[in-house]
Amino acid sequence: MTPLSQGRAAVFEEPIGPKGVRIRDRPKTDAEPGAVAIAVRAASLNHLDLWLAHGAQRVPPPRVIAADGAGVVHASTEARWKPGDEVVVYPVVCCWECEWCRRGENVRCVRFGVVGEHSDGTACELFHIDARNVFAKPKALSWEEAAAFPLTFLTAWRMLTTRARLQKGEQVLVVGAGGGVAVAAIRIARHLGARVFATSRSERKRQRALEIGAEAAFDSAEFSKAVREASGGGVDVVVESVGPATLNESMRSLVPGGRVVICGSTTGVKAEVAMPRLFWGQLDMLGSTMGNASEFQAVLDAIDAGLRPVVDEVRPLNEVQAALERLDAGEQFGKVVLSMEG
Ligand SMILES: [Zn+2]
Repeated sequence: MTPLSQGRAAVFEEPIGPKGVRIRDRPKTDAEPGAVAIAVRAASLNHLDLWLAHGAQRVPPPRVIAADGAGVVHASTEARWKPGDEVVVYPVVCCWECEWCRRGENVRCVRFGVVGEHSDGTACELFHIDARNVFAKPKALSWEEAAAFPLTFLTAWRMLTTRARLQKGEQVLVVGAGGGVAVAAIRIARHLGARVFATSRSERKRQRALEIGAEAAFDSAEFSKAVREASGGGVDVVVESVGPATLNESMRSLVPGGRVVICGSTTGVKAEVAMPRLFWGQLDMLGSTMGNASEFQAVLDAIDAGLRPVVDEVRPLNEVQAALERLDAGEQFGKVVLSMEG
């Protein structure tokens, strides 16, 4: 089934930025067969929501925003879930039936998409979604934390483990610390026993990166020399989401045979790459998006073992415009969460 947002919801209505996302009331219906209706307690924003609000994703309005949500089961058509269960949403839209989905490769589904972009989103009172997207909420997390980790931790987990095959004791550089995936990557790399370095243009964010586990943080303008010095010759893995502005510096930060894994490109869609560095350095350039349901389960297991998200700030749903403006200004470190209470 296609995800469905009901009741009070944050709806993208006009591609004019944060002001084009407004609170609306949507009709409530019974859950379709195969679906679970979740009374959302908290949802969180991603850069995706901001791009959507600016019209950059070419998603036609209206659309209820947000991929991340956690809440209490309100009604379920599947025996696995019953009213009162505390749950969190796997933020991927997929068919669950094709050969790729059956093989556990949800990211390769022909209908692959992101909740809140390719379907209704979680910033709503009542969210209906396929029961296969529903997972038990980690007990150790608050509602705000449970809404803060899904998309970014899933993305960073796949980047570091499945794609870059990070090993304990290796060294990782996370470029552009502050963004949700970058913060998740710092936390996950530390959790997996790696040494972590970070970059940011902001002194305050470099400081925050150190507080959450990076051992050194450098300015994003020019960092490869400092990274090679601090790491004793270069890092094994670079987590990239910035793109053209940093990609060559990222590649210069790697040891021979190192891997740069890319999940986004916030500074533009086309990058110029110094080709000799790629082949002479025996580098791997890896692309990655979101993650499979099994990888989501692996994140949940890691949370049970102590991994924690980083919440930047919590606002009530009706302050969604101010929450989006915080992302627009690039002020956040970690996740901006919307609370459904009040
Ligand atoms: Zn499929």
